[in-house]
Amino acid sequence: MKVLKLSAQGLPQSWITLEEAALHYAADDVRWEVGGEIACFRGGHNAVTGLQSVIHINSIIGTRGAPSINLCSLTPALTNGKLFTRDRCICAYCGRHFNDQELTREHIVPVAAGGQDLWMNLVTACRSCNHRKGARTPEQARMPLLYAPYVPSLWEDFILRNRRILADQMEFLLAHVPKSSRWRS
Ligand SMILES: [Zn+2]
Repeated sequence: MKVLKLSAQGLPQSWITLEEAALHYAADDVRWEVGGEIACFRGGHNAVTGLQSVIHINSIIGTRGAPSINLCSLTPALTNGKLFTRDRCICAYCGRHFNDQELTREHIVPVAAGGQDLWMNLVTACRSCNHRKGARTPEQARMPLLYAPYVPSLWEDFILRNRRILADQMEFLLAHVPKSSRWRS
């Protein structure tokens, strides 16, 4: 379980552990909270009052400090895990669902023909379809794409980075994802 950490301005910063979130609370860095309480840490007893300190951790927190990302020039880093999640683990050629181990990073325009390692030139394909297509374009191989590639937005990137997103976190992120995204369908 992770906490979605946002900047004070509300831009996503990172997924952090409960322990990391507790440190932000303890340092009084948390400016606001969204979502529900997901954990509660109990600390030591106050020597004067005898009361035990308690930290309630919410699923989404806004912390002080400037965002470390430049929204304008942002293309989310590419990993196979995020690519497969973007494409819902569905092969772009046969349309079947596979486990990560059976999926590959498929270059639509093959590398041999100058195709680049970019979000817009990549889809998810199963091993057998990738092998069958080989170093050809979909047209040459007569294997039309069942869906189109796209570059995920910053908000969507946070959905792709974490496969165990809580319902209120997903709702929060989806509210910022364009309607054209596969996640809104
Ligand atoms: Zn396939």
